[in-house]
Amino acid sequence: MEDMRKTLQDARRIVVKVGTSTLTHETGKLNLGRIEVLVRQLADLSNQGKDVVLVTSGAIVVGTSRVGLSGRPRTTKEKQAMAAIGQGILMQVYEKIFAEYGCVVAQILLTKADIDNGKRYQNAINTFNMLFELNVIPIVNENDTVAVEEIEFGDNDTLSAYVASLVKADLFIILSDIDGLYTADPRTDKEAELISLVPEITPEIEELASEAGGALGIGGMSTKITAAKIAVGAGIPMVISNGENPAVIQKIIAGEEVGTLFLPKQG
Ligand code: GLU
Repeated sequence: MEDMRKTLQDARRIVVKVGTSTLTHETGKLNLGRIEVLVRQLADLSNQGKDVVLVTSGAIVVGTSRVGLSGRPRTTKEKQAMAAIGQGILMQVYEKIFAEYGCVVAQILLTKADIDNGKRYQNAINTFNMLFELNVIPIVNENDTVAVEEIEFGDNDTLSAYVASLVKADLFIILSDIDGLYTADPRTDKEAELISLVPEITPEIEELASEAGGALGIGGMSTKITAAKIAVGAGIPMVISNGENPAVIQKIIAGEEVGTLFLPKQG
């Protein structure tokens, strides 16, 4: 089964989701060193002729730190305002660093309503396809400004799994602040072991996903399992790995045994 790792080398279209805790420091400001490495990895994949999509979080946290609010915004309208401020900052930084490597980027903001509505879904597919044809790297986030509780994904893990399915990705990578799925919570249990391969998402696997998220991000392991179910159900292999050093992307694609690989459903 570990041979499955080697097949990741052939992935032509790759969606990479990066969480807030990977992209920012505890101050709420961008971790530029890490973003620089992330961008270099993605630019290099694009240079190899692969289609790359980046799903980025971080807008709310970065916006909050920019206006100097202390603590996390609590109300929906506060979060929406912070996202509106932070999203521009995120894009400005991505645009600048990707441009240094000769890559063009595009911003795509989606809501759950866009995924649920056949016409908008098709429009999104058309836009992605045009961008791929032009060799442009789409950078996706939830459209937090208009997404309210009933219609929001609420976390970019779920959003990115839908995006992977929408663009018919060959590989979906989630970079988080944890090495992958463990047999127990590694923060509290020393015996916890990393699970390298999940051939099927059984009820036991779902149970392993604890509710706790990172200090800044929203998604914990349970949203990652939800994302994995969507991805493998759409026939897409998914890897969860630690984004501490985004150079791990290269290792995943080289077929090295890092993080947790969820195998796609066959047929
Ligand atoms: N869309 C939110 C943001 O960019 C992040 C959601 C998440 O962390 O999953 O701030």
